[in-house]
Amino acid sequence: MEFRRKDRPFVIAGPCSAETREQVLETAEGLKTLNVDLLRAGVWKPRTRPGNFEGVGEEGIEWLKEAGAKIGKPIAVEVANTLHVELALKGGVDVLWIGARTTVNPFMVQEIANALKGTDVPVLVKNPVNPDVELWIGAVERLQSVGLTKLGAIHRGFSTFQKSPFRNSPNWNIPIELKRRMPELPIICDPSHICGNRELLSEVAQKAIDLNMDGLMLETHRDPIKAWSDADQQVTPQELERILSELVWRNPNSADLEVKAKLEQLRATIDGLDRDILDLLVERLSVSRSIGEYKREHNITILQHQRWNEILHDREAHVQGKDLSLKFLHKFLEAIHEESIQQQTQVMNSSKAKSA
Ligand code: PEP
Ligand code: MN
Repeated sequence: MEFRRKDRPFVIAGPCSAETREQVLETAEGLKTLNVDLLRAGVWKPRTRPGNFEGVGEEGIEWLKEAGAKIGKPIAVEVANTLHVELALKGGVDVLWIGARTTVNPFMVQEIANALKGTDVPVLVKNPVNPDVELWIGAVERLQSVGLTKLGAIHRGFSTFQKSPFRNSPNWNIPIELKRRMPELPIICDPSHICGNRELLSEVAQKAIDLNMDGLMLETHRDPIKAWSDADQQVTPQELERILSELVWRNPNSADLEVKAKLEQLRATIDGLDRDILDLLVERLSVSRSIGEYKREHNITILQHQRWNEILHDREAHVQGKDLSLKFLHKFLEAIHEESIQQQTQVMNSSKAKSA
């Protein structure tokens, strides 16, 4: 199983949970003619609080198997422990995925890896619920170290306490970092669990493609409003068809030499500008250190709140009407300010060492 295609995103669709045989079969029937590569359904559901529907268990695998055979597509379920792995393999499941609440726990990931040793079952690893790329990479490494080679990652967003339009914050920098560290690993975006609603799905799916992700996992249900889990975010097969048809597929590169040359030229300009920015930063920090020395000689504190406020207001006014968001400006200035304070502190301390 290759989780990557040349012509369009690799698509995983199907209900959040297998509920009844009819629901699985009917949902699958709706997906038959769509560009769907893998049929999904959860049969063991990790629920945040007890007392909710926790999945139909092993029986659901039979329904999924039947549905997959009927529409001619491979099937996938979530596994969270050795027993799940054994039952999934016994039931003929083609692809396993590890859920976000399992990826956080290295003991569980290792247990799953050990249970899969000696097979080469394809496995997709969802990001952990917390925004920690090392934990995500660690889970993939545990599977690699038992000899599994058909691996992929699923970006499903991260828990936050802050209010946000998303159920799970996408933190796009994290899958981007995963791609940088593991360039061969396909990454599939799961807009359903990122959004938690139907309205934002298209936007998030397009963004994932613009960021060169390899595929999409979209929860699909014959009657989403009546779903036993994740009712707010599932779509009908018809809605999925519309979402997929409206996506603009982008290639990581172009074969057109003229396009390539133009891109090269623009990138060379960016490279030069980045170097200029860095040289200016070095110069600015050297002035900061001089200020540090001056403050030391005259016994003045490093941090002066009024001056910091003045800087913020002045720079905000400077970029007004220009294509630079205030959010970015603040992040940028804060990073410079932090480094400047750090360097000034060094100046102060080194003088103490000298005079001692
Ligand atoms: C799911 O895919 O239905 C699921 C439980 O996802 P996650 O592990 O991302 O919460
Ligand atoms: Mn779900």
